[in-house]
Amino acid sequence: MKLRMRTPWLGALLAVALPCAAATPPTPEQAQARAIYARLISYNTAVGAGQVPKMTDYLVGLFRDAGFPLDDIHVFPLGETDSLVVRYKGDGSGGKPILLMAHMDVVAADPKDWTRDPFTLVEENGYFFGRGTSDVKDGVASLSSTFLRLKAEGFVPTRDLVIVFTGDEETEMATTQDLVRNHRDLLDADFALNADGGGGTLEENGAPRTYSIQTAEKTYADFELTVHNPGGHSSWPRADNAIYQLADALKKVQAYRFPTMWNDTTLAEFTAEGKVAPGALGAAMRAFAKNPRDEAAVEALSRDASQIGRIRTTCVATMLRAGHANNALPQSATANVNCRIFPGVAVDQVRQTLRDQVGKGVEVAVVDHPTASDASPLRQDVLDAVTRAVHTIHPGVQVVPNQASGASDGLYFRAAGIPTYGVGGMFIKDSDSLAHGLDERVPVQGFYDGLRYWYALLKDLAGR
Ligand SMILES: [Zn+2]
Repeated sequence: MKLRMRTPWLGALLAVALPCAAATPPTPEQAQARAIYARLISYNTAVGAGQVPKMTDYLVGLFRDAGFPLDDIHVFPLGETDSLVVRYKGDGSGGKPILLMAHMDVVAADPKDWTRDPFTLVEENGYFFGRGTSDVKDGVASLSSTFLRLKAEGFVPTRDLVIVFTGDEETEMATTQDLVRNHRDLLDADFALNADGGGGTLEENGAPRTYSIQTAEKTYADFELTVHNPGGHSSWPRADNAIYQLADALKKVQAYRFPTMWNDTTLAEFTAEGKVAPGALGAAMRAFAKNPRDEAAVEALSRDASQIGRIRTTCVATMLRAGHANNALPQSATANVNCRIFPGVAVDQVRQTLRDQVGKGVEVAVVDHPTASDASPLRQDVLDAVTRAVHTIHPGVQVVPNQASGASDGLYFRAAGIPTYGVGGMFIKDSDSLAHGLDERVPVQGFYDGLRYWYALLKDLAGR
Protein backbone atom coordinates (compact mmCIF):
# COMPACT_ATOMS: atom_id res chain seq x y z
CA MET A 1 0.00 0.00 0.00
CA LYS A 2 1.09 3.54 -0.47
CA LEU A 3 -1.48 6.09 0.55
CA ARG A 4 -0.48 9.66 1.01
CA MET A 5 -2.30 12.40 2.78
CA ARG A 6 -3.93 14.73 0.24
CA THR A 7 -4.76 18.02 1.89
CA PRO A 8 -4.04 20.80 -0.59
CA TRP A 9 -4.69 23.57 1.90
CA LEU A 10 -1.63 22.45 3.88
CA GLY A 11 0.39 24.28 1.25
CA ALA A 12 -0.32 27.44 3.17
CA LEU A 13 1.63 26.04 6.12
CA LEU A 14 4.82 26.94 4.41
CA ALA A 15 5.71 29.61 1.93
CA VAL A 16 9.26 28.78 0.94
CA ALA A 17 11.38 29.56 -2.05
CA LEU A 18 11.93 26.74 -4.51
CA PRO A 19 15.21 25.01 -3.84
CA CYS A 20 17.44 25.10 -6.88
CA ALA A 21 18.40 21.47 -7.34
CA ALA A 22 21.27 21.53 -9.77
CA ALA A 23 21.91 18.15 -11.38
CA THR A 24 25.18 16.87 -9.95
CA PRO A 25 26.80 13.53 -10.73
CA PRO A 26 25.82 10.79 -8.27
CA THR A 27 28.13 10.19 -5.32
CA PRO A 28 29.53 6.64 -4.88
CA GLU A 29 26.79 5.94 -2.27
CA GLN A 30 24.11 7.18 -4.66
CA ALA A 31 25.52 5.13 -7.52
CA GLN A 32 25.53 2.00 -5.37
CA ALA A 33 21.94 2.59 -4.19
CA ARG A 34 20.84 3.24 -7.76
CA ALA A 35 22.40 -0.03 -8.91
CA ILE A 36 20.59 -1.92 -6.14
CA TYR A 37 17.34 -0.13 -7.00
CA ALA A 38 17.71 -1.10 -10.68
CA ARG A 39 18.33 -4.72 -9.78
CA LEU A 40 15.28 -4.81 -7.45
CA ILE A 41 13.01 -3.34 -10.12
CA SER A 42 14.17 -6.06 -12.56
CA TYR A 43 12.44 -8.77 -10.50
CA ASN A 44 8.73 -9.09 -11.18
CA THR A 45 7.72 -9.64 -7.57
CA ALA A 46 3.96 -9.46 -8.16
CA VAL A 47 1.87 -12.31 -6.77
CA GLY A 48 1.95 -15.38 -9.00
CA ALA A 49 5.28 -14.56 -10.66
CA GLY A 50 7.24 -16.33 -7.93
CA GLN A 51 10.26 -14.03 -8.08
CA VAL A 52 10.40 -12.76 -4.51
CA PRO A 53 12.82 -15.55 -3.45
CA LYS A 54 15.17 -14.63 -6.33
CA MET A 55 15.19 -11.05 -5.15
CA THR A 56 15.75 -12.22 -1.59
CA ASP A 57 18.76 -14.30 -2.74
CA TYR A 58 20.22 -11.22 -4.36
CA LEU A 59 19.74 -9.16 -1.17
CA VAL A 60 21.19 -11.92 1.02
CA GLY A 61 24.29 -11.90 -1.21
CA LEU A 62 24.64 -8.13 -0.76
CA PHE A 63 24.46 -8.30 3.02
CA ARG A 64 26.76 -11.34 3.20
CA ASP A 65 29.38 -9.70 0.98
CA ALA A 66 29.20 -6.54 3.09
CA GLY A 67 30.21 -8.54 6.15
CA PHE A 68 26.90 -9.27 7.87
CA PRO A 69 27.28 -12.67 9.57
CA LEU A 70 25.02 -15.37 8.11
CA ASP A 71 23.66 -15.93 11.61
CA ASP A 72 22.14 -12.47 11.43
CA ILE A 73 20.44 -13.03 8.08
CA HIS A 74 17.18 -14.99 8.15
CA VAL A 75 15.01 -16.03 5.21
CA PHE A 76 11.55 -17.47 5.89
CA PRO A 77 10.01 -19.11 2.82
CA LEU A 78 6.22 -19.18 2.62
CA GLY A 79 4.58 -20.62 -0.49
CA GLU A 80 5.90 -18.85 -3.58
CA THR A 81 7.24 -15.94 -1.55
CA ASP A 82 9.34 -15.30 1.55
CA SER A 83 10.44 -12.71 4.07
CA LEU A 84 13.91 -11.49 5.00
CA VAL A 85 15.20 -10.34 8.38
CA VAL A 86 18.70 -8.83 8.67
CA ARG A 87 20.11 -7.79 12.02
CA TYR A 88 22.75 -5.06 12.25
CA LYS A 89 24.07 -5.76 15.73
CA GLY A 90 24.56 -2.83 18.05
CA ASP A 91 26.40 -2.59 21.37
CA GLY A 92 23.11 -2.35 23.26
CA SER A 93 23.98 0.94 24.98
CA GLY A 94 21.10 2.73 23.24
CA GLY A 95 18.29 0.42 24.26
CA LYS A 96 16.04 -2.08 22.50
CA PRO A 97 16.25 -2.73 18.76
CA ILE A 98 14.51 -0.77 16.04
CA LEU A 99 12.76 -2.59 13.17
CA LEU A 100 13.03 -1.16 9.66
CA MET A 101 10.22 -2.39 7.43
CA ALA A 102 9.42 -2.51 3.75
CA HIS A 103 7.84 -5.07 1.43
CA MET A 104 9.52 -6.76 -1.52
CA ASP A 105 6.40 -7.58 -3.57
CA VAL A 106 4.67 -5.22 -5.99
CA VAL A 107 1.25 -4.91 -7.58
CA ALA A 108 1.06 -6.69 -10.96
CA ALA A 109 2.11 -4.68 -14.03
CA ASP A 110 1.39 -5.74 -17.59
CA PRO A 111 4.26 -4.61 -19.89
CA LYS A 112 1.72 -4.31 -22.76
CA ASP A 113 0.01 -1.45 -20.96
CA TRP A 114 3.13 0.46 -19.96
CA THR A 115 4.96 3.09 -21.99
CA ARG A 116 8.29 1.64 -20.77
CA ASP A 117 9.14 -1.84 -19.52
CA PRO A 118 7.82 -1.91 -15.92
CA PHE A 119 10.64 -4.25 -14.88
CA THR A 120 13.50 -2.06 -16.08
CA LEU A 121 14.54 0.98 -14.09
CA VAL A 122 14.38 3.83 -16.61
CA GLU A 123 15.75 7.28 -15.80
CA GLU A 124 14.09 9.93 -17.91
CA ASN A 125 13.33 13.64 -17.51
CA GLY A 126 14.30 13.65 -13.85
CA TYR A 127 12.24 10.58 -12.98
CA PHE A 128 12.89 6.93 -12.22
CA PHE A 129 10.17 4.82 -13.90
CA GLY A 130 9.29 1.23 -13.07
CA ARG A 131 6.90 -0.98 -11.09
CA GLY A 132 7.78 -0.59 -7.43
CA THR A 133 9.78 2.62 -7.83
CA SER A 134 7.50 4.20 -5.22
CA ASP A 135 5.76 1.18 -3.65
CA VAL A 136 8.11 0.33 -2.20
CA LYS A 137 11.38 -0.83 -3.74
CA ASP A 138 12.76 2.65 -3.13
CA GLY A 139 12.43 1.79 0.57
CA VAL A 140 14.03 -1.64 0.11
CA ALA A 141 16.91 -0.11 -1.86
CA SER A 142 17.39 2.80 0.56
CA LEU A 143 17.37 0.67 3.70
CA SER A 144 19.64 -1.98 2.17
CA SER A 145 22.18 0.47 0.78
CA THR A 146 22.17 2.48 4.02
CA PHE A 147 23.03 -0.73 5.90
CA LEU A 148 25.89 -1.38 3.46
CA ARG A 149 27.15 2.19 3.73
CA LEU A 150 27.08 2.22 7.55
CA LYS A 151 28.82 -1.16 7.65
CA ALA A 152 31.53 0.04 5.26
CA GLU A 153 32.08 3.08 7.47
CA GLY A 154 32.61 0.83 10.49
CA PHE A 155 29.51 2.24 12.22
CA VAL A 156 28.52 0.36 15.38
CA PRO A 157 24.92 1.20 16.29
CA THR A 158 24.03 1.74 19.93
CA ARG A 159 21.09 -0.64 19.47
CA ASP A 160 20.29 -3.40 17.00
CA LEU A 161 18.85 -2.20 13.70
CA VAL A 162 16.72 -4.93 12.15
CA ILE A 163 15.60 -4.91 8.54
CA VAL A 164 12.28 -6.73 8.06
CA PHE A 165 11.30 -7.16 4.41
CA THR A 166 7.98 -8.91 3.85
CA GLY A 167 6.95 -10.73 0.67
CA ASP A 168 3.21 -10.31 0.08
CA GLU A 169 2.03 -7.02 1.54
CA GLU A 170 -0.04 -6.22 -1.54
CA THR A 171 -2.11 -9.41 -1.24
CA GLU A 172 -2.35 -11.79 1.72
CA MET A 173 0.16 -10.28 4.16
CA ALA A 174 0.81 -13.91 5.14
CA THR A 175 4.58 -13.40 5.48
CA THR A 176 3.94 -10.58 7.94
CA GLN A 177 1.56 -12.72 9.96
CA ASP A 178 4.07 -15.59 9.86
CA LEU A 179 6.80 -13.32 11.23
CA VAL A 180 4.61 -12.00 14.02
CA ARG A 181 3.28 -15.45 14.98
CA ASN A 182 6.29 -17.70 14.51
CA HIS A 183 9.37 -15.48 14.75
CA ARG A 184 8.30 -12.95 17.34
CA ASP A 185 11.68 -13.35 19.13
CA LEU A 186 13.46 -11.82 16.13
CA LEU A 187 11.07 -8.85 16.19
CA ASP A 188 11.61 -7.90 19.80
CA ALA A 189 11.93 -4.14 19.45
CA ASP A 190 11.30 -0.74 20.91
CA PHE A 191 9.39 0.28 17.79
CA ALA A 192 9.24 -0.21 14.02
CA LEU A 193 9.82 2.30 11.24
CA ASN A 194 7.94 1.47 8.05
CA ALA A 195 9.23 2.75 4.71
CA ASP A 196 5.81 1.88 3.25
CA GLY A 197 3.86 4.69 4.87
CA GLY A 198 4.18 8.35 5.64
CA GLY A 199 6.33 10.57 3.43
CA GLY A 200 6.48 14.06 2.08
CA THR A 201 4.31 15.95 -0.36
CA LEU A 202 5.55 18.48 -2.87
CA GLU A 203 3.56 21.30 -4.39
CA GLU A 204 3.18 21.07 -8.14
CA ASN A 205 5.96 23.67 -8.42
CA GLY A 206 8.29 21.38 -6.48
CA ALA A 207 8.28 23.19 -3.14
CA PRO A 208 7.89 20.94 -0.11
CA ARG A 209 4.35 21.14 1.32
CA THR A 210 4.36 18.92 4.38
CA TYR A 211 5.66 15.63 5.76
CA SER A 212 3.26 13.11 7.29
CA ILE A 213 4.33 10.45 9.76
CA GLN A 214 1.82 7.62 9.81
CA THR A 215 1.06 6.56 13.37
CA ALA A 216 -2.23 4.70 13.03
CA GLU A 217 -4.31 2.82 10.49
CA LYS A 218 -8.03 2.14 10.46
CA THR A 219 -9.06 -1.48 10.24
CA TYR A 220 -10.76 -2.59 7.04
CA ALA A 221 -13.60 -5.05 7.67
CA ASP A 222 -16.53 -6.35 5.62
CA PHE A 223 -19.69 -7.71 7.23
CA GLU A 224 -22.41 -9.70 5.48
CA LEU A 225 -25.97 -9.05 6.60
CA THR A 226 -28.23 -11.92 5.57
CA VAL A 227 -31.95 -12.59 5.91
CA HIS A 228 -33.44 -16.03 5.16
CA ASN A 229 -37.09 -16.70 4.36
CA PRO A 230 -39.10 -19.74 3.24
CA GLY A 231 -40.07 -17.80 0.11
CA GLY A 232 -42.82 -19.12 -2.16
CA HIS A 233 -44.85 -18.05 -5.19
CA SER A 234 -44.86 -14.30 -5.77
CA SER A 235 -48.62 -14.36 -6.47
CA TRP A 236 -49.09 -15.29 -2.78
CA PRO A 237 -47.00 -12.64 -0.98
CA ARG A 238 -46.32 -13.45 2.67
CA ALA A 239 -46.24 -10.84 5.39
CA ASP A 240 -42.50 -11.37 5.86
CA ASN A 241 -40.05 -10.91 3.00
CA ALA A 242 -36.26 -11.28 3.01
CA ILE A 243 -35.69 -8.21 0.82
CA TYR A 244 -37.97 -5.94 2.84
CA GLN A 245 -36.45 -7.16 6.08
CA LEU A 246 -32.91 -6.58 4.80
CA ALA A 247 -33.91 -3.14 3.52
CA ASP A 248 -35.25 -2.25 6.97
CA ALA A 249 -32.01 -3.49 8.54
CA LEU A 250 -29.90 -1.41 6.15
CA LYS A 251 -31.93 1.71 6.94
CA LYS A 252 -30.99 1.16 10.59
CA VAL A 253 -27.29 0.84 9.67
CA GLN A 254 -27.63 4.05 7.67
CA ALA A 255 -29.17 5.90 10.59
CA TYR A 256 -26.70 4.66 13.17
CA ARG A 257 -23.69 6.80 14.00
CA PHE A 258 -20.78 5.18 15.81
CA PRO A 259 -19.46 7.08 18.84
CA THR A 260 -17.04 9.94 18.28
CA MET A 261 -13.44 8.87 18.90
CA TRP A 262 -10.02 10.44 18.85
CA ASN A 263 -6.42 9.74 19.77
CA ASP A 264 -3.22 11.78 19.97
CA THR A 265 -2.86 11.61 16.20
CA THR A 266 -6.40 12.91 15.59
CA LEU A 267 -5.78 15.93 17.77
CA ALA A 268 -2.32 16.61 16.31
CA GLU A 269 -3.66 16.33 12.74
CA PHE A 270 -6.56 18.70 13.40
CA THR A 271 -4.31 21.15 15.24
CA ALA A 272 -1.95 21.33 12.25
CA GLU A 273 -4.61 21.33 9.54
CA GLY A 274 -6.96 23.61 11.48
CA LYS A 275 -4.43 26.41 11.13
CA VAL A 276 -4.76 26.43 7.37
CA ALA A 277 -7.98 24.63 6.37
CA PRO A 278 -10.48 27.10 4.93
CA GLY A 279 -13.55 28.62 6.60
CA ALA A 280 -15.97 26.57 8.65
CA LEU A 281 -13.98 23.35 8.19
CA GLY A 282 -10.84 24.94 9.65
CA ALA A 283 -12.86 26.34 12.55
CA ALA A 284 -14.36 22.89 13.26
CA MET A 285 -10.90 21.28 13.20
CA ARG A 286 -9.53 23.85 15.62
CA ALA A 287 -12.52 23.50 17.93
CA PHE A 288 -12.30 19.69 17.89
CA ALA A 289 -8.56 19.76 18.58
CA LYS A 290 -9.23 21.99 21.58
CA ASN A 291 -12.22 20.01 22.84
CA PRO A 292 -13.23 16.79 21.07
CA ARG A 293 -16.56 16.89 22.93
CA ASP A 294 -17.54 20.15 21.21
CA GLU A 295 -20.87 19.10 19.68
CA ALA A 296 -20.91 21.76 16.97
CA ALA A 297 -17.42 20.77 15.82
CA VAL A 298 -18.36 17.08 15.82
CA GLU A 299 -21.47 17.85 13.73
CA ALA A 300 -19.53 19.95 11.22
CA LEU A 301 -16.83 17.30 10.77
CA SER A 302 -19.43 14.51 10.55
CA ARG A 303 -21.28 16.28 7.74
CA ASP A 304 -18.08 16.33 5.65
CA ALA A 305 -17.54 13.01 3.84
CA SER A 306 -13.75 13.50 3.87
CA GLN A 307 -13.71 14.08 7.64
CA ILE A 308 -16.32 11.82 9.23
CA GLY A 309 -14.07 8.76 9.12
CA ARG A 310 -11.33 10.58 10.98
CA ILE A 311 -13.36 10.79 14.18
CA ARG A 312 -15.26 7.51 14.28
CA THR A 313 -15.79 4.04 12.88
CA THR A 314 -17.87 4.17 9.71
CA CYS A 315 -19.97 1.39 8.14
CA VAL A 316 -21.70 1.68 4.81
CA ALA A 317 -23.66 -0.68 2.52
CA THR A 318 -21.66 -1.42 -0.62
CA MET A 319 -23.16 -4.56 -2.31
CA LEU A 320 -26.48 -6.40 -2.52
CA ARG A 321 -27.65 -9.79 -3.73
CA ALA A 322 -31.13 -11.20 -3.22
CA GLY A 323 -33.80 -13.41 -4.72
CA HIS A 324 -33.56 -16.06 -7.42
CA ALA A 325 -36.40 -15.38 -9.87
CA ASN A 326 -38.68 -12.51 -10.88
CA ASN A 327 -41.79 -14.52 -9.97
CA ALA A 328 -40.59 -16.02 -6.66
CA LEU A 329 -40.48 -14.65 -3.13
CA PRO A 330 -36.84 -14.22 -2.11
CA GLN A 331 -35.42 -17.03 0.00
CA SER A 332 -32.46 -14.95 0.98
CA ALA A 333 -31.14 -11.42 0.79
CA THR A 334 -27.57 -10.40 1.59
CA ALA A 335 -25.85 -7.05 1.80
CA ASN A 336 -22.18 -6.29 2.22
CA VAL A 337 -21.49 -3.59 4.74
CA ASN A 338 -17.98 -2.19 4.59
CA CYS A 339 -16.55 -0.78 7.82
CA ARG A 340 -13.47 1.30 8.55
CA ILE A 341 -12.88 0.70 12.21
CA PHE A 342 -11.27 3.28 14.44
CA PRO A 343 -7.89 2.16 15.88
CA GLY A 344 -8.29 0.40 19.21
CA VAL A 345 -11.81 -0.93 18.51
CA ALA A 346 -12.17 -4.71 18.16
CA VAL A 347 -13.77 -6.12 15.02
CA ASP A 348 -16.17 -8.18 17.13
CA GLN A 349 -17.33 -5.09 18.96
CA VAL A 350 -18.41 -3.59 15.63
CA ARG A 351 -20.18 -6.84 14.70
CA GLN A 352 -22.07 -6.71 18.00
CA THR A 353 -23.07 -3.10 17.39
CA LEU A 354 -24.39 -4.00 13.93
CA ARG A 355 -26.35 -6.93 15.41
CA ASP A 356 -27.87 -4.70 18.04
CA GLN A 357 -28.90 -2.23 15.37
CA VAL A 358 -30.46 -4.64 12.88
CA GLY A 359 -32.21 -6.80 15.47
CA LYS A 360 -33.38 -10.42 15.36
CA GLY A 361 -33.68 -12.33 12.13
CA VAL A 362 -30.69 -10.70 10.42
CA GLU A 363 -27.42 -12.63 10.48
CA VAL A 364 -24.28 -10.53 10.78
CA ALA A 365 -21.11 -12.33 9.70
CA VAL A 366 -17.53 -11.07 9.49
CA VAL A 367 -15.94 -11.64 6.07
CA ASP A 368 -12.41 -13.11 6.19
CA HIS A 369 -10.27 -12.39 9.24
CA PRO A 370 -9.70 -8.68 9.67
CA THR A 371 -7.11 -7.72 12.28
CA ALA A 372 -7.61 -4.60 14.35
CA SER A 373 -4.72 -2.49 15.59
CA ASP A 374 -4.20 0.29 18.09
CA ALA A 375 -2.85 3.71 17.27
CA SER A 376 0.84 3.97 18.05
CA PRO A 377 1.63 6.55 20.73
CA LEU A 378 3.06 9.84 19.50
CA ARG A 379 6.52 9.26 20.88
CA GLN A 380 8.46 12.47 21.12
CA ASP A 381 11.83 10.75 20.56
CA VAL A 382 10.60 9.25 17.27
CA LEU A 383 8.88 12.47 16.14
CA ASP A 384 11.98 14.52 16.95
CA ALA A 385 14.37 12.17 15.15
CA VAL A 386 12.14 11.96 12.07
CA THR A 387 11.73 15.74 12.06
CA ARG A 388 15.51 16.26 12.23
CA ALA A 389 16.05 13.75 9.41
CA VAL A 390 13.33 15.36 7.25
CA HIS A 391 14.93 18.75 7.86
CA THR A 392 18.28 17.53 6.52
CA ILE A 393 16.59 17.36 3.10
CA HIS A 394 13.85 20.00 3.44
CA PRO A 395 14.66 22.41 6.28
CA GLY A 396 11.67 23.77 8.16
CA VAL A 397 8.98 21.60 6.59
CA GLN A 398 6.18 20.77 9.04
CA VAL A 399 5.94 17.15 10.23
CA VAL A 400 2.33 16.12 10.89
CA PRO A 401 1.13 12.83 12.42
CA ASN A 402 -1.33 10.97 10.21
CA GLN A 403 -3.90 8.22 10.61
CA ALA A 404 -4.31 6.24 7.40
CA SER A 405 -7.79 5.20 6.30
CA GLY A 406 -6.41 1.99 4.77
CA ALA A 407 -4.03 -0.61 6.09
CA SER A 408 -0.50 -1.87 5.40
CA ASP A 409 1.35 -4.73 7.06
CA GLY A 410 2.30 -2.27 9.78
CA LEU A 411 -1.07 -3.13 11.30
CA TYR A 412 0.12 -6.62 12.28
CA PHE A 413 3.12 -5.13 14.06
CA ARG A 414 0.90 -2.68 15.92
CA ALA A 415 -1.49 -5.50 16.77
CA ALA A 416 1.50 -7.45 18.14
CA GLY A 417 2.30 -4.57 20.47
CA ILE A 418 5.14 -3.00 18.46
CA PRO A 419 4.53 0.74 17.96
CA THR A 420 4.91 1.33 14.24
CA TYR A 421 5.56 4.56 12.38
CA GLY A 422 5.25 5.04 8.64
CA VAL A 423 8.21 7.27 7.87
CA GLY A 424 8.99 6.88 4.15
CA GLY A 425 11.79 9.12 2.91
CA MET A 426 10.30 10.22 -0.40
CA PHE A 427 8.84 13.63 -1.20
CA ILE A 428 6.50 13.48 -4.17
CA LYS A 429 3.85 15.57 -5.95
CA ASP A 430 0.22 14.43 -5.91
CA SER A 431 0.42 14.27 -9.72
CA ASP A 432 3.34 11.82 -9.45
CA SER A 433 1.55 9.51 -6.98
CA LEU A 434 1.07 6.57 -9.33
CA ALA A 435 1.65 3.67 -6.93
CA HIS A 436 -0.29 0.57 -8.11
CA GLY A 437 -0.95 2.37 -11.42
CA LEU A 438 0.56 2.69 -14.88
CA ASP A 439 3.99 4.26 -15.38
CA GLU A 440 4.77 4.40 -11.65
CA ARG A 441 7.59 6.88 -11.09
CA VAL A 442 9.48 8.92 -8.52
CA PRO A 443 11.66 11.99 -8.91
CA VAL A 444 15.36 11.07 -9.16
CA GLN A 445 16.20 13.78 -6.64
CA GLY A 446 13.55 12.38 -4.29
CA PHE A 447 15.24 8.98 -4.33
CA TYR A 448 18.66 10.44 -3.56
CA ASP A 449 17.21 12.74 -0.89
CA GLY A 450 15.55 9.68 0.64
CA LEU A 451 18.96 8.04 0.97
CA ARG A 452 20.31 11.01 2.88
CA TYR A 453 17.20 10.99 5.03
CA TRP A 454 17.52 7.31 6.04
CA TYR A 455 21.24 7.68 6.70
CA ALA A 456 20.59 10.70 8.94
CA LEU A 457 17.67 8.99 10.69
CA LEU A 458 19.53 5.76 11.52
CA LYS A 459 22.62 7.61 12.72
CA ASP A 460 20.41 9.84 14.84
CA LEU A 461 18.46 6.99 16.46
CA ALA A 462 21.36 4.57 16.88
CA GLY A 463 24.47 6.73 16.87
CA ARG A 464 26.36 8.51 19.61
ZN1 LIG B 1 3.28 -0.69 -0.27
